[in-house]
Amino acid sequence: MSGVIKIEHPLIEHHLCVVRDQATRPSEFRAAIARLTVLVATHATNDLPLSPVKITTPICDADCRSLSINIGLVPILRAGLGMVDPLQNLLPDAAVWHLGLYRNEETAEPVGYYDKLPNSGAPNVALVLDPMLATGGSVELVIERLQSWGVDDIRVLSVIASQTGIDRVAKDFPDVRLYVAAIDPELNDQAYIVPGLGDAGDRIFDTPQND
Ligand code: URA
Repeated sequence: MSGVIKIEHPLIEHHLCVVRDQATRPSEFRAAIARLTVLVATHATNDLPLSPVKITTPICDADCRSLSINIGLVPILRAGLGMVDPLQNLLPDAAVWHLGLYRNEETAEPVGYYDKLPNSGAPNVALVLDPMLATGGSVELVIERLQSWGVDDIRVLSVIASQTGIDRVAKDFPDVRLYVAAIDPELNDQAYIVPGLGDAGDRIFDTPQND
């Protein structure tokens, strides 16, 4: 499977109202991002491979199946951090690899400032976490970095994507899957998603007018 997967679910619609509403307080915003992350992640992981395992329950032996691959979580700092806890609850054995990018406010282009990926030990599957896929520039930098590290299966999990951003990433990286809760039609002249939800990092971390 490849391409763009927009997840349809009534709970997604409900929680999107919460994150889009400018009156939502940061604590409620973080909780709604976490709920949306779980809903997106459930779909983004629904074909992960399983291996048979023998378990002894208090009653008898049982044939079960468990995850048999290495999974890495790659939050794009800073807003991606808001998606880490809910994913670690689902995937407690996943490693977390941080990549820091900030946006040059004049060019709207991403600039890398933190990257501690080792030279070896790439996970089988990398889940790239960024609640907002706007121009696609940050996600593309991260995909290139993960491919150079040796990750074959890269999946991007976002809450809201712009049509421009997903068209760009899907065209440039047809093997990468993009899982999104919503696709918004446009970007404004500052590259914010419209209607979007504003600055996700500022709303998660309660840092209005952060620059
Ligand atoms: N990043 C955000 O947090 N919001 C946008 O609308 C675009 C990028």
